[in-house]
Amino acid sequence: MKKSVSSFAQSVVDWQLSHGRQHLPWQHTKDPYRIWLSEIMLQQTQVATVLGYYERFLARFPTVSALGVAEQSEVMPYWAGLGYYARARNLHKCAQTIHYEYGGQFPRSSKELATLSGIGPSTAAAIAAFAYGERSPIMDGNVKRVFCRYFGVYGLTHLRATENKLWDLARQVIAAAPADLNMTAYTQGQMDLGSQVCTRGQPNCSACPLQAGCYALEHQTQTELPTPKPKTKQAERHCDMLIWQQGNQILVEQRPDSGIWGGLLTLPQFEDESQLQQFILNQGLSLNETHKMAGLTHVFSHFKLHITPWWIQTSTPLREPSVQQQWIDLTQLDQTALPAPVLKLLTGIKNQQPILF
Ligand code: SF4
Repeated sequence: MKKSVSSFAQSVVDWQLSHGRQHLPWQHTKDPYRIWLSEIMLQQTQVATVLGYYERFLARFPTVSALGVAEQSEVMPYWAGLGYYARARNLHKCAQTIHYEYGGQFPRSSKELATLSGIGPSTAAAIAAFAYGERSPIMDGNVKRVFCRYFGVYGLTHLRATENKLWDLARQVIAAAPADLNMTAYTQGQMDLGSQVCTRGQPNCSACPLQAGCYALEHQTQTELPTPKPKTKQAERHCDMLIWQQGNQILVEQRPDSGIWGGLLTLPQFEDESQLQQFILNQGLSLNETHKMAGLTHVFSHFKLHITPWWIQTSTPLREPSVQQQWIDLTQLDQTALPAPVLKLLTGIKNQQPILF
């Protein structure tokens, strides 16, 4: 065990500098704002997806103070489609704290960073390593996989006991590494290795800089590590949504801040068809003019949502509008904070291609 700990970090650094990713827009900066933003966007999200969002977000909010003084409703359109919206709300809250309580300057240690909204210990360590060269370990999903395989750590990785073991190994690795360890390359290297070489399905061990000391490779247990979660059937839910069109305008409702799609604008949503019909009748609309569209399924992390959309085009005014309801323009979809399936449905309407039954 001792030998594999001591060679680990430098092997990752050497590999990162020659084979890792070098040209991501959040690399080669020491600006904690840019680093923090990328780290939050990259949680549960692929690099390729983040790229476009990152640039657009920075163009609108170039500094943490610009983000801190903005309204949440101004921020959400720049996150819409990225998913996991609690991240955006926490991001905004954190920016407010940094602007109003820290004078617009990020704290300089991972310990203090980890006290801010939405910044867990691994994200805090990554920011501190990239921005300030702090010698702190990270432990995200990719890194957990590499450590489990390399050190032969069994046990479900979300359990406290397994996590503690992994963090402990990660600290040992850094403690045993050379004093001048390149923390930027080491931190980036662990991420790159986990996402490009030691991948979930088929790790490419022959291209891995850690093959000499790897437990899983030696014992051919790559598929057993990390310990797979017992398979549970994903829960399924259903809802009906109404697309009420008046010329170029569509009726939407503001979601409460918590829960799925928190803070976003969505279509009026109903538990079932009869609830939707009741709404239509209450609004003085005709069921005969309401058309059922092709359904779609949206996959959340813990359940699948089957959506049955309905479409009606009338000029009937909205009866008793609530403060959550508003009309949006079909030409403004890309500036509106809409969840991905709603954006897809409305883009079909905008392009005059609603798929009807
Ligand atoms: S040798 Fe294979 S299993 Fe081990 S860390 Fe490298 S890619 Fe992962």
